[in-house]
Amino acid sequence: MLKVAKFGGTSVADSLQIEKIKSIVEADDDRRYIVVSAPGKRFEKDSKVTDLFYLFKNNLDANLPSDQIWGIIRDRFIAEEIALGNSGIIGKELDIIKQKIEDGETIDYIVSRGEYLNAVLIAKYLGFDFVDAKDLIVLSDSGRPDIKASIENLKKELKSHERAVIPGFYGTDKNGKIKTFSRGGSDITGALVAATVDADIYENWTDVSGFLMADPRIIENPKKISKITYKELRELSYMGAKVLHEEAIFPAKQANIPINIRNTNDPADGGTLITSDVDDTKEEYIIKGIAGSKDFTDITIYKEGLSTERGFVRKLAEIMEDFDITLEHIPNGIDTISAVLKNELVDGRLDEILERIQSVLSPDQIEADEDLAIIATVGHGMSYRPGTAAKLFSALARNDINIRMIDQGSSELNIIVGVKASDFEKAIEAIYREFVK
Ligand code: ASP
Repeated sequence: MLKVAKFGGTSVADSLQIEKIKSIVEADDDRRYIVVSAPGKRFEKDSKVTDLFYLFKNNLDANLPSDQIWGIIRDRFIAEEIALGNSGIIGKELDIIKQKIEDGETIDYIVSRGEYLNAVLIAKYLGFDFVDAKDLIVLSDSGRPDIKASIENLKKELKSHERAVIPGFYGTDKNGKIKTFSRGGSDITGALVAATVDADIYENWTDVSGFLMADPRIIENPKKISKITYKELRELSYMGAKVLHEEAIFPAKQANIPINIRNTNDPADGGTLITSDVDDTKEEYIIKGIAGSKDFTDITIYKEGLSTERGFVRKLAEIMEDFDITLEHIPNGIDTISAVLKNELVDGRLDEILERIQSVLSPDQIEADEDLAIIATVGHGMSYRPGTAAKLFSALARNDINIRMIDQGSSELNIIVGVKASDFEKAIEAIYREFVK
């Protein structure tokens, strides 16, 4: 067995957290490659080291005082080093970094130093090799991972390291300059390392015990999802559930490596396991999760004989394309068709869009409603259990919620309903209570 473990910002925020990760790493010999973030928040109002580096660079460029910010960063790392019992490497590293910044190093270099310094410290503390991500992880100019090149480089390098700590979040661009991923990008580094060593599992250690079946701001104490497929996760995250960095999932998924979300503060909890294969035999509930968003507009078009008119849907799609708007859903009836669109894409242009539809499609009537909420109920298990949709709809009916739109994908992975934005929370609650007892 071989495991890659990535520890996020709060898991490596200070020496106490780093002691926890030592116990986690030492509890399982298979955890051989460790990817770390920069120190994150230690308490609610704390600052992430990455944010401090951004602030430092901003102030420097604006000729505002920056020494104090540098002092905070320095003190944090020195305190961490002392508490972990290491001696004297970080001070020198910080001096080198300061000098390089004064010599005009780039923003990407500066903000990547949180990960770099943390990885140096943690490698020493764990007794693992430190392997720099520089020159190994390759990024495009837009900050996306070059998966093939990164894996090739990592493969060569990691051969000679039985156990290593690798800093997340950055690599190099094609000119050999340090380049960072978008925020939260250490997840991507972890997935690339996991794909490189063909890990049996990619553990993503954070401060929650995995994904929840519904938004805890709407449902009190929602159940945890213990196992979910990549596809289900994609549906939930598309509909607004906050999950992993999209790009982080890709390299692991492509290499068929399960991802396990775990909690550094509660290692006994098995967390959420994300896999490619569907295994519903052990599932407690028919559904995996519920997610949604309130910010949709629905444009409904009525035209007699619409169902026999050729090219109607194509023309509608072309109008949307002209406006650079993605058609989220197109539910249709015999003589009606609706276009469900994201509000952010429609804002300020609704009248213009309606006028265009009127002139191109000559409908008998158009109605627009900017207060549509969409709720996706997701789960492979729904596909082979008759009556799931009926249960869902009757739960909504019992709670006096009018369904404005229904869309069940042919994959039967989800049932999507549109309700009035003001019914959003009530509808999620009704669905959750129906399926999770
Ligand atoms: N430290 C970086 C950030 O705060 C990257 C990461 O933690 O994944 O966004």
